[in-house]
Amino acid sequence: MKRFIRLAAALVAAVGAWAAEPPKQPPSADVVLEWLRYGNERHAQGKYVYWHQSLDRRREVAGEERPHAIVLTCSDSRVPPELVFDQGIGDLYVVRVAGNVAGEKELGSIEYAAQELGAPLVVVLGHQRCSAVHTAVKGGDMAGHLGAIVASLSPAVARAKELPGDTVDQAIQINVKMTVEQLRTSEPVLAKIATNG
Ligand SMILES: [Zn+2]
Repeated sequence: MKRFIRLAAALVAAVGAWAAEPPKQPPSADVVLEWLRYGNERHAQGKYVYWHQSLDRRREVAGEERPHAIVLTCSDSRVPPELVFDQGIGDLYVVRVAGNVAGEKELGSIEYAAQELGAPLVVVLGHQRCSAVHTAVKGGDMAGHLGAIVASLSPAVARAKELPGDTVDQAIQINVKMTVEQLRTSEPVLAKIATNG
């Protein structure tokens, strides 16, 4: 616990410095990932620090945004990334779509944040009991445009059905891994950025 408090204090100091005077170069992806891990730890314990939510912060980022991470996650009402990672205004560039799949528009959004805003880290965040994945596993006729989401999830569902264990749980994890690989190899923008670290 003491170690966590020390780490959290160091993190607060680091992010405080970041908020006071954003460096010209963003922190590395590894550093940002650690920030998010600390934030998620606070979320898990219900001990939010709620930084970057003040009026001053809103004024600070009004003219320019420099988010330190891009998060692709599900539209599910239970996984808002700013709360899951205890981040504030201007910290995360969030792309949300049922099942956290990456179609053309999602890829374009991620490319924009990586290339134009300089966010050094992309997180693909899946979650337990995902109803989008559950729907894709269940199958059947899809009304309206839901079929597009299910079609994007179908490769992960097909692999999951070949594995032992709960098919939905397997598909959720496989979908995240496949989406990460999709982003990592997406030409011409993200693959180049990934190759450069
Ligand atoms: Zn979901």
